[in-house]
Parts: sequence; structure tokens; C-alpha cells
Amino acid sequence: MKEMTSATAAINALALAKRSRGETVYNFAAGDPILSPHPVVVEAVTAAMHSELILYPPVAGLEALRKEAILWMGESYGAHYGIENTLVTAGGKFALLAAMQAILSQEDEVIIPSPYWVSYPQMVELLGAKPVIARTEAKKGWKLDVETLEKCITERSRVLILNNAANPTGILYTREELESLVECACKKGLIIISDEVYSEIIYDDGIFVSCGLLEKWREQVIVVQSCSKNFAMTGWRIGFAFGPERWIREMTAIQSQSTSGPSTVSQWAAIAALKERKAIIPTVRREMQKRRDLFVEMFNEQFSEQLPKPSSGLYAFIPLSIFHTEKDSAQMCNDLMTTANIACVPGVAFGQEGYMRMAFSEKREVLREGLTTLRKEMGS
Ligand code: PLP
Repeated sequence: MKEMTSATAAINALALAKRSRGETVYNFAAGDPILSPHPVVVEAVTAAMHSELILYPPVAGLEALRKEAILWMGESYGAHYGIENTLVTAGGKFALLAAMQAILSQEDEVIIPSPYWVSYPQMVELLGAKPVIARTEAKKGWKLDVETLEKCITERSRVLILNNAANPTGILYTREELESLVECACKKGLIIISDEVYSEIIYDDGIFVSCGLLEKWREQVIVVQSCSKNFAMTGWRIGFAFGPERWIREMTAIQSQSTSGPSTVSQWAAIAALKERKAIIPTVRREMQKRRDLFVEMFNEQFSEQLPKPSSGLYAFIPLSIFHTEKDSAQMCNDLMTTANIACVPGVAFGQEGYMRMAFSEKREVLREGLTTLRKEMGS
């Protein structure tokens, strides 16, 4: 079988292995917003442990969790769903895979704007379908436009994946941009899978718009959400899919024959976090904004650069030209890891050579030390 391990997971594994040998590793690879769990989450889990609440969950997720998630989507994004439109999954990642598995047949084409999150093309290939990459450019703000999208649509096109707010570029689509892309794809009969797992990690005056708001195309849009980034709960593995009843039913069937749904303990934790969202979300956002500011300001100072601050997410997508290197991105990241214990993800894994991605979600002191080490490694 072709190598299917995600590039980020592979680099993260290498970083963890070095750490377990006692080496200091600067992990700029994983987008893990490192924060202590909120006390309400700890309390909810402790209470669940002392009760008889930790049984198999219903396959589609605990009803209380689905209801809280529906409230969050309505309140925060004006996206209105019923319980029959809502599924709890083991992270956004499984929601994406289940959605694709429900929709796709062999040889179907899935349009993926690049730079993309590393897992999309490989998930599509895993299902025997074909990724079709819609290239975007830095000078156009890394955004997909209708003209490029139209060129990618064929008789076999079945799905368009949109990622807003985007990993690795941090871009945010406006409502108008989303409307025109969704309209173009839906008119041609495509289903939109809208990956919105960074929807609350929005900085400055940025405005996030959910595809779930576009009522007209409701029957063709599946929104993927997660507690991982928005609530700094990566390890709990709680995600969601919101969409037409037909697809949610099929995804629930897939879940019933695979994971049976995420851990019940995690679902109780997520209920507590979602109920406390008005306190938790701003705390996560504020801290990530401080880490972003520290990272970008220090990076620019060290390399005399003018990298813009990303509008959302946990990553800086950095052109290798800054380092005056002839290396390609895989070589660059491999060398940084081997010689300086600095973990970054090569641009090629996102479908964009000439760049590397650095996550700024680590604690601030780690970011400072890591960037100082990077500066030394690159020569001053
Ligand atoms: N989508 C994007 C764009 C991501 O960056 C990630 C994780 O990094 C995921 C989905 C999956 O997140 P999780 O499965 O932790 O919810």
C-alpha cells in the first residue's frame, strides 16, 4: 500500500521519540494549542467517573452534546441544525473521512484547493477516489476563485473541500467569496465539505463565516467542526459533522461499524466545555493571539523580514526564500530536525513546494527558545 501516514503526524512522532530520549525538541510541527484543561472540564470528567455514565455512547453521540453543539453553531455562526443533522465523531478528522466515505464512489473526483491540509488528498485516495488539486497563489492571498474552480469541474466531480479558516495559510473567506464558490459547485451538483475546525481561532478584527449559514445550499453542504483547536482539546478527540439528514444517517452507519463514536468520557468533557464556551473560547483565542504575535514579531526581527500575521489558525506558512537556501522543503525540514531538533512541516506536504509550516501553538517560552535555536542554525 502507498505510504498513507500524515506528514504532520510522522514529524510529530519523530519529535516525540527524540523527547522520550531526553532530547530538547522544538515542536513547531503539531498544531496543538497547549493549555491546561478548564476546571469545568476536569469537574465534569471526575463526576462522570464517579457515576454510571460511562457506558457505550449512542452511535451518533450523547444527545446532550449534540444539543450543545447545535446551540453553539446557531449562536456563533447563525447556522441552524436539528438533532437529525448532527453527528459527534472522534475528532474532525473522522468526520471528514466518514463524510467522504458516505459520498464517494471509486474514481469520483474531489476538488481540493492547495495549499491544503495534509490529510485531504490521502483520505480521498484511501477511498479509491481521485484528488483534483485547484492551485491558489500567494499573490492572490492563497484563495480559491470561481474561475479556477470552474476549470477543475468535470463530469466526475463529486465533492469540493473548502477549509475556512485555513490550515496552513490562515486565510479567511468573506461571505461573498464563499457564496460564489458554493453556488458554482452546488449548481454543478457537487457536495461541499466545509472544514471549519479553526472557526474560533480568529485574530484581530477577522470575521469568520460558516458555510452552514448559506441556507440556499443546505442540502449540499456538510460542515465539519471540532473541539480540538477551538476549545484546546486535541487529545479528547471530539469532532462534529452537521449536514443534510441523508448524509448524517449514512455517516452514522459508517461510525456504527467502525469507531462506535468517541469515548463517552470525552463526550462528557465536551458537554462541559461547550456549556462554558463564552469563557473558554475567548481565553483560547487571546492566548493563541499572544503566541502568534510573539512568534511573528520575533521571527521578523531575527530574519529582518515582514511576514504578515496570519488572520486565523495556529500556523505561519513561511517561504524558504527567507533562508536563502537551495534546499527543497522536505530536505530543509529533515535537516532542521536532524541537526537542530526543530520540527517543522515541509510545504510539499501541503502541495506547495518552496515553503514550510511552523505552528505557534506551543507555550511562549518554548517559542522563544525554538526561534533562537532556528536563528543560530541558519547562521546570523
Ligand atoms: N482539519 C484541519 C484543517 C486540521 O488542521 C485538523 C488538525 O490539525 C483537522 C481537520 C483534524 O482535527 P481533529 O481531528 O483534531 O478535530
